[in-house]
Amino acid sequence: MQRIVLKLGTSVLTKGTARLNRQRMLELVQQVAALHNGGCELIVVSSGAQTAGRERLEFPDLGKSVPAKQMLSAVGQSHLMHVYQDLFEIFAINVAQILLTRDDLSDRVRYLNARDTLHTLIEQRIIPIVNENDTIATDEIRVGDNDNLSALVASVVDADLLVILTDQPGIFTDDPRKNPEAALIQNVTHISDNLFKLAGGAGSSIGTGGMVTKVQAARIASRSGIKTIIASGSEPQVLSRITAGENIGTLIEPERNRSDSRKRWLLTDRAQGSLLVDAGAARVLLKGGASLLPVGIREVRGDFERGAKLTVLSPEGNEIAHGLSNYNSADLRQISGQKSNKIVDILSYSYGDAVLHRNNLVLL
Ligand code: GLU
Repeated sequence: MQRIVLKLGTSVLTKGTARLNRQRMLELVQQVAALHNGGCELIVVSSGAQTAGRERLEFPDLGKSVPAKQMLSAVGQSHLMHVYQDLFEIFAINVAQILLTRDDLSDRVRYLNARDTLHTLIEQRIIPIVNENDTIATDEIRVGDNDNLSALVASVVDADLLVILTDQPGIFTDDPRKNPEAALIQNVTHISDNLFKLAGGAGSSIGTGGMVTKVQAARIASRSGIKTIIASGSEPQVLSRITAGENIGTLIEPERNRSDSRKRWLLTDRAQGSLLVDAGAARVLLKGGASLLPVGIREVRGDFERGAKLTVLSPEGNEIAHGLSNYNSADLRQISGQKSNKIVDILSYSYGDAVLHRNNLVLL
């Protein structure tokens, strides 16, 4: 049995127009239903709320202010769900709406709640339809695009596969609209800076994310041990062909084996602060299996409590790990650069020798 997160972008749902395209949506729902009935577990991450809102209100001239967009999302989200509900009903499948923000995934307790709800829906054979909670999400707490959101969801539910359907056949070696020689990249084993550069060239104008956010999403999935396929939503029977193993679109292989839930959570999320370490500490961490001690810390960035999720930065500023801090930022500033046996002298207490214990640390 396969657990699949399917991301449907606005351009897929509208066929590039200003309206939801019912026929296209029916085709997609039909494919989802077929997989569902074949025993796969599906979670849909769907965009299109704002577009649906605009359509519903007959294209009002509201400007581009944030409240106007949020209003459109509020109107459109229920409309979008209504359409999905009608379409899935044809196949006697129940759906559920899940609206998330980044905060729901970065806070450990809320993350676990979201995970439990999603798992219960999946167990009950109800298809969750996820979107960002656009009506309340401000910039600080939003994921910002549904590509990244779909990868976070894939990590939350421990999916086997993330399928991102878009209006492009995949990632190309160059912009296919400008260079006739541009070829589709079928297989990616390592997400390099170059891949981000290639993705920068070929985005569609509709929807929030271009290809870049899709590569970011694939990186999140890949780090969690999940494979990603970016393919065109207009490819006939795209889902069943993908699950049958046909080479469609761009496949991005997982960088590592599936990590456990706690480590996946550590991997996927934005951190609350960061620690710049010296070359020695970076080397030891990168070898794996080691904790980060205060002696290797050069600089503490941000203000955070004990238990906060932190990013470890190499002396060159590269992100090398995520971990949970045993100390708050004020105390860390006092003990950084010091030997662990000095911790009690300096702070008059100790939560242990390690700042980030190896059990609460994942390499990026
Ligand atoms: N949440 C947005 C919407 O439904 C879409 C965001 C995205 O497409 O990345 O309108």
